[in-house]
Amino acid sequence: MTKLLLIGGGHAHLSILRSLLNENVNNLEVTLITSSKFQYYSGMFSGFTEGLYDEDEIRIDLESLCSRASVSFIEDTIISFDPMQKVLLGFSGGIYSFDVISFDIGSGISSDLTRTVGLNIKPNYRFPEQIKKFRSSESPVIIGGGSAGVELALATSAWRQKQSLKNHVTLISSSPLLHSYGNKATKKIREIAKSHNLVYYENEKIDKLENNIVVTDKGTKIEYSAIMPVTGPKASSLFKQALLSTDIKGYLLVDDTLQSADYPYVFGAGDCVSLSIYPDLPKNGVYAVRQGPILWNNIKRLITGRTLVSFKPQKYYVSILSTGHKHGLFTYGDYVIYGKWAWSLKNLIDQKFMNKHL
Ligand SMILES: Cc1cc2nc3c(=O)[nH]c(=O)nc-3n(C[C@H](O)[C@H](O)[C@H](O)COP(=O)(O)OP(=O)(O)OC[C@H]3O[C@@H](n4cnc5c(N)ncnc54)[C@H](O)[C@@H]3O)c2cc1C
Repeated sequence: MTKLLLIGGGHAHLSILRSLLNENVNNLEVTLITSSKFQYYSGMFSGFTEGLYDEDEIRIDLESLCSRASVSFIEDTIISFDPMQKVLLGFSGGIYSFDVISFDIGSGISSDLTRTVGLNIKPNYRFPEQIKKFRSSESPVIIGGGSAGVELALATSAWRQKQSLKNHVTLISSSPLLHSYGNKATKKIREIAKSHNLVYYENEKIDKLENNIVVTDKGTKIEYSAIMPVTGPKASSLFKQALLSTDIKGYLLVDDTLQSADYPYVFGAGDCVSLSIYPDLPKNGVYAVRQGPILWNNIKRLITGRTLVSFKPQKYYVSILSTGHKHGLFTYGDYVIYGKWAWSLKNLIDQKFMNKHL
């Protein structure tokens, strides 16, 4: 019997669990070890923040999904890994052994502020509790002008408006808002932010915090009561500690078969890996989802001694940002379109994704 361990209940592993609902693989024993019984879906975080969805609507019950897929479920956080001895240590003290292993543990938040006064929405299961504290705070400040920061800032503004809370939300970004989406998206999101009473500062970095004041490198002073850093992903320290090959930031280095460069029986997908031939691939749920079927196919191919297949990322992908009050910003390559229909489409896609796990 081959023992397969899936570490982390991220998007790629969800795809494997869904496959196992209808598939029986001979002589394979699968176990999922993950930090929480629930996997929270980030696509619906903005809607939860705004009060459009309840907590139960944005999370997948992994324990129930595993039981239906004949996969053993263990709630634990892996803190140490010895790839040579094929053992792992969990936070609970549990020791786990395997023949083949796959990591889909996501990423953290790349800001030291999470350790000082800031809140931290990662790992994902902390999101509801953290955002609830943040959105009702007197003067909330979000750091990070990428898609996640912008969505959460606009959703917080919309929620506060519904609660008749007077103070505005502030967003501080070290680059133009939605910089990686191009100029058209930046221009549009500035318009939306202004019409939603979101105060933003672009091309400014936090220099220091003085009592309840954020001071930026341009000398701007902003009063705050809560700071939420959404500054982009940070790698888990697990892979470096295990002496596995990583990229410069510490993400597990995998080739296009999603195998570790060092051990063919170590796989990885989603935010926690860096593909050696696509080092600049953005870390988002879209790629994590697309890697799922390739990951599963390759795990089965390795076990049965067949040639593995390659993951080829698509260049463009549809992105729909929720901008508050059931409106959305649709982007695809250079196309940028704003409207109510964009949010409705996003809602439909997100609900469909969640329903796959019921
Ligand atoms: C506010 C916000 C909104 C976003 N919106 C979108 C969006 O609309 N579309 C999009 O494509 N991307 C979006 N993203 C990015 C997206 O969330 C991530 O890129 C995506 O979740 C990565 O998926 P993953 O499978 O790598 O890991 P995750 O979804 O982060 O899952 C990781 C899992 O591993 C578990 N885990 C973590 N560490 C350990 C450990 N040591 N041991 C065991 N288990 C562990 C966690 O509990 C979790 O279940 C958003 C991000 C944020 C912050």
